[in-house]
Order: sequence, then structure tokens, then C-alpha cells
Amino acid sequence: MCAAIYAARNGAKVTIIEKNDCLGKKLSMTGNGRCNLTNLSMSSDCYNLAARERMADWLGTYGPEDAICFFKSLGVVTMSEDGYIYPVSGQARSVVSALTNEIKRLGIEVIYKEQFKGVRASETDGVIEVVTGRSVYIADALIIAVGSLSGPKSTLSTGDGYYICEKLGMSIKKTYPALVGFKCADGEVMPSQGVRCRAGVSFVLGSEVLASETGELQITGDSISGIPVMQASRDITRLLSEGKPVCAVIDFFPDNDDDEFKALKREMISLSDDRTLEEFLVGFANSNVNDMILSRMKFSGSMKMKNISQSMKECILDNYRSLKIMLSTDCGYQASQVTTGGVSIGDVAQDLSYVRDKRIFITGELLDVDGRCGGYNLQWAFTSGSIAGIAASADAH
Ligand SMILES: Cc1cc2nc3c(=O)[nH]c(=O)nc-3n(C[C@H](O)[C@H](O)[C@H](O)COP(=O)(O)OP(=O)(O)OC[C@H]3O[C@@H](n4cnc5c(N)ncnc54)[C@H](O)[C@@H]3O)c2cc1C
Repeated sequence: MCAAIYAARNGAKVTIIEKNDCLGKKLSMTGNGRCNLTNLSMSSDCYNLAARERMADWLGTYGPEDAICFFKSLGVVTMSEDGYIYPVSGQARSVVSALTNEIKRLGIEVIYKEQFKGVRASETDGVIEVVTGRSVYIADALIIAVGSLSGPKSTLSTGDGYYICEKLGMSIKKTYPALVGFKCADGEVMPSQGVRCRAGVSFVLGSEVLASETGELQITGDSISGIPVMQASRDITRLLSEGKPVCAVIDFFPDNDDDEFKALKREMISLSDDRTLEEFLVGFANSNVNDMILSRMKFSGSMKMKNISQSMKECILDNYRSLKIMLSTDCGYQASQVTTGGVSIGDVAQDLSYVRDKRIFITGELLDVDGRCGGYNLQWAFTSGSIAGIAASADAH
């Protein structure tokens, strides 16, 4: 949508071929329905390693301020929550509507429920034949903006672009779900009721800490998710798929350093022993976390504290500092927010055109670019869409 608007504003006659029955299906689900458009704390470090070197230039060409101005030009007023940018409306669907209105205003034709399937590039007359399930369209330039494999089923994110781009000769880096939760290994005792609380989460392989993040953790049934899990998930999905024994170590007291936590334990243990374990822990942490930790340690909450040794009391409390949960697999593409991997960025020039055919452009998540949670992925969609839209229409005016 962004690429189409920029190309049309630049004078091109633009057609959008959309597989779904509406535009922006995934966009309307972003940010829990609020759409976290971008982030003022933007740097190339917020993206995957392979993309970082080139992100600085791309973000320099079109960064958060440009995206904010673009949305203002569509009538979408934004606000900042600690640098996280949302529409003031608080509604992702208002962002979709504003984009769709502009598409209509610019006279961009939208063909719905039609699947783009491939490209036949004609060298002789310089046009591109765009092949869909129903027809063949002739174009001077083509922007492939079909996204990834991530998102609920209704978004129809089936990763068509990887196959199409591979057929065009591009190299595709193996894909994995990223910004995703994880299933816990069989036999892990999980809370009977869901937990949502602030925690630090580290992913550990052997003695190596792979990633650590703090934020609102969610534990449900057999899986862990939430911002700290998703933020750290990028490389963990690959390791788990290779059968590596990765575990999550959860710290329910992420804001206390070791000395403070030790002092806290001492105070807890010095309190009267005339209580049950359940009463001992009632104000210490989230009650569902307490239940889970006691079940994992095979303790009954009704046990009297005076019957528990000093070292065992310490051991119980230490679990709140470093609860280890073995992981089995990620929760899958449909539960993920982005896909890591995709069309190698070595295959595109600075203007997002394919290095072997300057009439074809690749944007958004289809490329091997994925960012942290917090507006970084939509910013990449807008950055790449605007750059490609302007470049693809350069000959139009
Ligand atoms: C639940 C959820 C929440 C998210 N929240 C945020 C957030 O708050 N902030 C953020 O920055 N990022 C968020 N993301 C990530 C962000 O939505 C994506 O990174 C971004 O939408 C990618 O843009 P894109 O244009 O590359 O692909 P998409 O937005 O997926 O758009 C691709 C379009 O191409 C169409 N299409 C696909 N295949 C074909 C085909 N063969 N023929 C024709 N049309 C086709 C699709 O229907 C779709 O309209 C979220 C993702 C999810 C799933």
C-alpha cells in the first residue's frame, strides 16, 4: 500500500494485485489492534545481523519521522508512548482505512482475491508479464510486496513470495518464525491457570546465555510468550529446530540485583514459621507462579513452614530467581509476528530493485529483514515500500 501510494504520487499508473478480499488484513491486527506504527528509538541494531549494515542507509533515507509525516499526510495523527508510535485513534483499522482512502483518491486500481503467481520478463520489449491465477498483466515495473509466512490463517500469509523470487533466481535464506512464543518440553509442570507478570527471561544452551530480555511474560498451558520471549526468539527457533536443548530461565524479580534478592530472601525466611507454605508465599509473587513453583518442587501449599529446613526454604525462593523450563519447539508461523530469513538482501540494490533485473523491486518482510517488537517491522515495510515506490516510478513523470 505504501509503495503503491508513493509510486502513484510520483505519477505512475499503479495496480495492486491482492490475494485477500481486502487490503491490510495483517496491518489491521497489529499492535493488539492499536498498530504500533514505528519507534522513535530507531537504529540498525534493532534488526537482524544480516540486514544491519544496510539498514542505516535505508533508515537514513526514510526513517520514523518520514513515516509519521506520511501518515499525517493521510490524516492519521500519531502519538508517542515512550517513543513507541501509535495512531491517536488507538485503532489499527483507522490506519488501514486512511491508506485505502488514499489509494482510492489516487485512482490506484485494486484487484482483490487474485493471487500473484510469477513473472515472465520479456527482454525484447522491456515489459514485465505479471502472472496471476486468473490473468497476465503487462507492467513496466513490478514491486513484490507479498510479505512472509507469519500471522493468523485469515491473513493468507503463505509465503508465496519465497517461491516466486527463487524462480527469478534470487537466493532465499531459510525461514523461521520470529517474535514468537515457545512450547515447553513434555513433563514440564506448568501453571494450571495462566500467568501474566513482569519477568526477566534468558535463553540458555548449556552454559551459554543466548539472549536475555525483561518485560511482561505470559505463561499459558504448555507455552511461554509475551514481549521478553518474543524479543529474544529470533535465533532460538532455529536452534530448537536443529534439536538443540535450549531452556528458558525465568527471573520473577528482574528489578532486584543479587544482593537485594538475598536480603529479600533473608527477610522472608526470618518471618514467623507459624504459617503454611501457601501463606508464606502469598505476598511474595503472583499466586499462579507460587502454585507452579510448589507443584514443580512437589510441595503442598498446606505444609507448615516449621517442617521445612532452612536450605529448602532458600531453594524454594531461589526458584523465583532462576526457574528453568526446557523448551521443545516454537509456537509456529501462525502465532508469530514476523518471519526471519527470506530473500537475501544481497539480491537487492539500495533502491530495493533486484540486482539482475532493475524493473523488479522487493519490499517488506519478504526480504531477509526482521526487527524487534515495537514498530520496527512496520517501519521497514514503510521504508522499503516508499523507496521502492519512488524508484519504480522514476520514469513515470
Ligand atoms: C499479530 C501481529 C501483530 C503485529 N504487530 C506489529 C506492530 O504493532 N508493529 C510492527 O512494526 N509490526 C507488527 N507486526 C509485523 C508487521 O505486521 C509486518 O512486518 C508487516 O505487515 C509486513 O509488511 P509487508 O508489506 O511486508 O507484508 P504484509 O503486511 O503481510 O502484506 C502483504 C500483502 O500481500 C498480500 N499477498 C500475499 N501473497 C500474495 C499473492 N501471492 N498475491 C497477491 N497478494 C498477496 C497479502 O494478502 C497482504 O495484503 C505484527 C504482525 C502480526 C502477525
